[in-house]
Amino acid sequence: MRIVNRKKFLITTIGLLVIILLIIALITVNVYNRMSKANEEAAIEAENQASASTTTTQTSNSSQTTSDVKTEEDTQTVTQSQSTETVTGDLGASGNFESGSIIQVANKQYSLSSSYVPDDLVWLDLPSTRDTQMRSEAATALTELFNAADSAGIELYCCSGYRSYETQSELYQWNVDTYGQTEADLVSAKPGTSEHQLGLAMDVTSESVGFDLLESFGETEEGQYIADHAHEYGFIIRYPQGKTAITGYSYEPWHLRYLGVDVATDIYNSGKTMEEYYGLV
Ligand SMILES: [Zn+2]
Repeated sequence: MRIVNRKKFLITTIGLLVIILLIIALITVNVYNRMSKANEEAAIEAENQASASTTTTQTSNSSQTTSDVKTEEDTQTVTQSQSTETVTGDLGASGNFESGSIIQVANKQYSLSSSYVPDDLVWLDLPSTRDTQMRSEAATALTELFNAADSAGIELYCCSGYRSYETQSELYQWNVDTYGQTEADLVSAKPGTSEHQLGLAMDVTSESVGFDLLESFGETEEGQYIADHAHEYGFIIRYPQGKTAITGYSYEPWHLRYLGVDVATDIYNSGKTMEEYYGLV
């Protein structure tokens, strides 16, 4: 009888221990998930606040001033799918534009897969308004540009580099919720159509514009510096003034796109947009 009881006791004890361990494991996983979610939400909130503050400034300024977070890309693609799948065009077949290429296109016509994540992202070690990443080659080039600017007495700051498809989705949705579909589509990139997902774009800002993303940045000495010198390091001002009909986006003096020195210099000298340069319009 005592043996039976002891067996029962052991089985009960082990059973209880297993249940307790399971409960601990569940709590741990739950806490971890909540922490991850909280971090993600904090990041999104930071982006949104940048948008909101810029919008306020924009309203008192001009209708064209706008934050990149909600800018670049969109209007006509409203009816286009949210592009959860790859490219709508056939640039991939032409060779140089394949996924992962430095000159890969992301715009209203050519969207990225929702699963596309560059495999060589690195954290920028530069003055920044937040931690941000770019592809390795672009990060190296941006560092050289920032160093050259610094030598000329110009202090530039990174604002926003790589953004995941998911982050872009949340930003876009935030803009739709905040401004309504029409306005959002004028200033915000639908997920899959942002160059930031390529890891080849960086929004640059300065203290002179309050670390915001404003059209007036183009008139500051920092904005002038990158307009004049970015191509020497492989970057172009992707959405120039007066080219909205072609790029689909209003003037964004802060949005740099990396293409390598040769192409960037060619485009700079030609005065063309990337779309015109590659005959995509
Ligand atoms: Zn941008």
